Order: sequence, then structure tokens, then C-alpha cells
Amino acid sequence: MPADIRLTRRGVLGNTAVVMGGALLGLLVDPIVAPTQASTWAAPLIHTRHQWQARPPKVEATVLDRAPDHIVVHHTASANSTDQSLEHAFELSRAIQTFHMDDKGWDDIGQQLTISRGGHLMEGRNRTLEALNAGHHVMGAHTLSHNDHTIGIENEGTYMTEKPTEELWVQLVATCAWLCGTYQLDPHAAIVGHRDYNATACPGDVLYALLPELRNQVADRLGQRRVTQSFPATPSGLPGPRYTFDHGPAAGP
Ligand SMILES: [Zn+2]
Repeated sequence: MPADIRLTRRGVLGNTAVVMGGALLGLLVDPIVAPTQASTWAAPLIHTRHQWQARPPKVEATVLDRAPDHIVVHHTASANSTDQSLEHAFELSRAIQTFHMDDKGWDDIGQQLTISRGGHLMEGRNRTLEALNAGHHVMGAHTLSHNDHTIGIENEGTYMTEKPTEELWVQLVATCAWLCGTYQLDPHAAIVGHRDYNATACPGDVLYALLPELRNQVADRLGQRRVTQSFPATPSGLPGPRYTFDHGPAAGP
């Protein structure tokens, strides 16, 4: 296992690959979104479970032979740490996994992907990268009753009143662009917040209000259209975090 891995879409469609980014990215991709400008949705640097020293799952995750149709944006409902180090990011992943497995009793960490406030992207649920590289969906535990068709990104912090860091935001845009490119999703339809499915304030009023801008920045990456969207300017009134890592109903198909 290499220290870091970058996925390509070559395994998904097997189309003719083109070198993109050359030495910059050092990988092969085959753009499928008919970009009208230089497409930059190649896979970002992902830190694997091996790197953050994940525990083995109690039960191996289920991979469904299809793509997810939505990307669910979450906050982790933990502190808005000022530590942007990779070590801190790995500690975050381990802490969430411990909470999900030991406190919640789940088989493994729930979400497929995690982004720290330093902008570090980490694999979550076991088999996530294997599934992504095949264009398939690994079942997670992050959005009650919607885990069989959604991929979840947990963003470190609590965004009820504060914005994410610039580093986190940049990585979130890149990650969503990669997922939309890989799974051929329309960012304006596919990117949603946890509260769009369950009774929770997650991903926080501030981050939720940024989702229209997230969709547009992802669309920019894909060479797709921008859409003007209104968003709520007032707090949702939905239940907020009661304790660290509590961001609402998560387990279940
Ligand atoms: Zn959530």
C-alpha cells in the first residue's frame, strides 16, 4: 500500500485515458463531463485507513453494485480546532471511529470520507476507496434511512455560527468535484446537507447556507453551469449537537 493514494476513474469506464496535469497530478483520468474549461476534478490526495491507523471493522462493509446518487455534507459536531496538522486529522478519524464503534455500537466508522479543518481528506468506512475506484457505493452509517444511496462527508467542526476554515472549504470543493466526476452526478442536484434528510441542524446553519456556493464552485470545476439559489438566512430551529460527534440520526439503511 503506497503511503498516499490517488484514485483514477480508469477502472470505472475503461475509456481512453488522457494524461491530465502531467507532473502536477501524476495520474491518468478520462473526463466524462464534457468540460467547457480545464477540468480539475481529479482525485484529491486521500489518507487511507492504514495511515490513520483505523481499527479493523467488526463486520466488513457492504458494497452495492451501483453509484450513490447524493453526497451528504455533515459537520462532525466537535470543536472548531485550530490544530491543522495531519496528526490532528488522524486523531480525529480515530476518535470518530471509537465513538461510532464503542459508543454507538456500529460495525465501523460511519461516514465514507472525513475532512479536517486543516483540509486533510481521509478515508472513512472500510472499503470506501475500493468501492469508489469501481464506481460503486459502500454502505455507510451517516444518514438515517438513506445510507443505501448516499455518500457522506464529515467536515470537522461545528458550523452553527462559524464558517469552515479556508483549508477545509477548498478540500470540500475538490472532494465533491471528484465525487461528482466519478459518479457522474449533477452537483446542483446531488449535494445536500444532512438536514435535508433527517431532523437535525447538521451541517450547521452556516455551512448549510454555503451549500449553494459549494454546488456552484463544484460546477465550475466540472465545467458545468452555475445556478442562483436562495438559502435560508435564519436558523433552522432543528436539533443541534447535544454532545461531541452528535450530528443527528445516522444509522440504518
Ligand atoms: Zn450529519
